[in-house]
Amino acid sequence: MEKGKTSRATATVVGIDLGGTNVRAALIDEAGHILARNREETPKEAALLQETIVRMVAEISEGRAQAVVLAAAGLVDPRTRRILRSPNLEAIVDLPVVEALTQKLSIPVGLVNDAAAAALGEKWKGAGQPFNDFVLLTLGTGIGGGVVHKGKLLDIAAELGHMSINAEGPACQCGRRGCLESYASATAIVDRAVKELVSGRDSLARACCDGNYYKVTAEIIFKTAMEGDLLCREIIKDAAFHLGSGVANLVNIFSPEAVIFSGGLLGAWQFIKPEVQTRVTRLAFKPLDRDLKLLPSTLGDDAGVLGAARLALDLMAEGNPAPSSADPGIARPLQSH
Ligand SMILES: [Zn+2]
Repeated sequence: MEKGKTSRATATVVGIDLGGTNVRAALIDEAGHILARNREETPKEAALLQETIVRMVAEISEGRAQAVVLAAAGLVDPRTRRILRSPNLEAIVDLPVVEALTQKLSIPVGLVNDAAAAALGEKWKGAGQPFNDFVLLTLGTGIGGGVVHKGKLLDIAAELGHMSINAEGPACQCGRRGCLESYASATAIVDRAVKELVSGRDSLARACCDGNYYKVTAEIIFKTAMEGDLLCREIIKDAAFHLGSGVANLVNIFSPEAVIFSGGLLGAWQFIKPEVQTRVTRLAFKPLDRDLKLLPSTLGDDAGVLGAARLALDLMAEGNPAPSSADPGIARPLQSH
């Protein structure tokens, strides 16, 4: 793998993972090697955010970047190439970010949803490589989704975290009730733990935060569960139970070969997987789940920048139609147009 780093790659692009907390950028060659990377806190103001992205691209690429794709935590409109909705990137909703960056960088720029990019990253270099049909779920602050079908990233919204699994469930920030992410995101797990601790439930986690339970994190809950704590295990198990309901729905809709999970909740994978498996076995339409694999991401935080880079390579090919894309098995979705 290291060999490619020393040979002169013919194409290098920048993939950017733009989240509510951090901006990650990576210079990546056409073989998928990460040649340079950096990470900064996400500025809250639109002009500063654009300046930051331009500076980060310049710093890592030193003039070598031939295209850039932004993978953003939001709903992307493929026609206008704008973010239509994003709770964590409100500053750039409905702004012509692609046009502005294209002008400043003078190279092709694309925009894609971050979970879709992560799915493409896993297909290119991660856990999705053996599969033509899989669904990826990012389990973090919220739940995002990406769908690969017949080896190609589907150009669909895939707001899988906002699939309702209980019409009378808790209210979600999207306006409906019982969304999957209200039960099985890291935020949902932490909220439940805080509620239980404040109400006086016995748990090893009570010793962790000097009595300020609002400081409890998902990591603390996973670590305490590993130590045998019954409350933390119960909370994770309940989240996985609901996650299993959602995954069974996805199996019925997409009949994937695999469902791949990424994000903060992987810290509790050993508790989550068996519960999800049991639930899917019980609920999925038979025999759609017969050979289903439930797998953790192998790229972790790099999935987004790698998927964005894969799209940036396709964007370059679009501007230079003679050579075909390095991987003809992956389509360029409309988001990158
Ligand atoms: Zn929702």
